[in-house]
Amino acid sequence: MFLLYVDASGTPEQQDVSRHYTLLGVCVHEGTWFALNKRMDGLKRRYRFGSQDFEIHVKQFASTISEQEQIQDFESMSWTDRRARVAAMREQRLQSSTNAEQKRQLRQKYKRTDPFIHLSRLERSRLLEDALDLVGAHEGIRLFGESIFKAHPGVLAGQIDLVGQAFEQVVARFDAFLQRRHRWKQQNSPRPSIDNGLLILDRDTSTEANLQSQFTTYRQHGHPWGNLVHVIDVPFFASSEQLGGLQLVDVCAYAVRRYLDKNAMPNSPEERNFLRIFHRFDRDAGKLHGLRHYVPAGCHCLICQARGHGN
Ligand SMILES: [Zn+2]
Repeated sequence: MFLLYVDASGTPEQQDVSRHYTLLGVCVHEGTWFALNKRMDGLKRRYRFGSQDFEIHVKQFASTISEQEQIQDFESMSWTDRRARVAAMREQRLQSSTNAEQKRQLRQKYKRTDPFIHLSRLERSRLLEDALDLVGAHEGIRLFGESIFKAHPGVLAGQIDLVGQAFEQVVARFDAFLQRRHRWKQQNSPRPSIDNGLLILDRDTSTEANLQSQFTTYRQHGHPWGNLVHVIDVPFFASSEQLGGLQLVDVCAYAVRRYLDKNAMPNSPEERNFLRIFHRFDRDAGKLHGLRHYVPAGCHCLICQARGHGN
């Protein structure tokens, strides 16, 4: 059985800061699952404060933690002191707020970033890089993805359903990989076992237009993914708190989206992060099948170049 952990970065809405909607799948064989989780535990141990476990959720550590910027010599302090200072500032902010709803929102915000307040901006960038390198170095991982440019004329004209198209593409490519693998096995053994694929989706209800609501529609009206051969077409929803695989998708989807959102600039930090995982996208005989940038012709990014769609 191959597991495909699926999550998105960016939203399908036009009114937000993301310029792309990126859906990504991290594929692992059930047999490599334990090794992967062990590596993730090792990664978290290097960054966590004491025994405080955390979820790798890029939104919470890749953005600015404003209190840190207001503390002088933050970088030269110990982790304990940094935590104490940020916590004190937050407590003061809560005390001074008289609005109950604002207080509630602040508490929620603080809770989400709390596992990272002892990490400087540089350390949090390294956490992202290390998480991407973990994927890049793990032989058993294969990635599938679709990144759609939200200002594409077809999207603006309302002819393209971002979430639906991205999902269809990722699942179809995952299925094509399983079929290719099966043909290879047939050529190399008289009675090959069949590898099925199972989709595991983030059931994070805080994300807008989340995939679960999309699936409810599919269940009621049928899904548009064509005839899947090996992928079991009932997805499994899980919480990213419990599944390391979903946390890895989160960082990979973010790295792809940021690279494209920032115009795929050569030698940029975004390109360097993207290159940490680009080689893990599904390829056959050197040809890139596992990732597509859906954008009008003429894009110069590494994905379009590899697929022969670029300049
Ligand atoms: Zn491109």
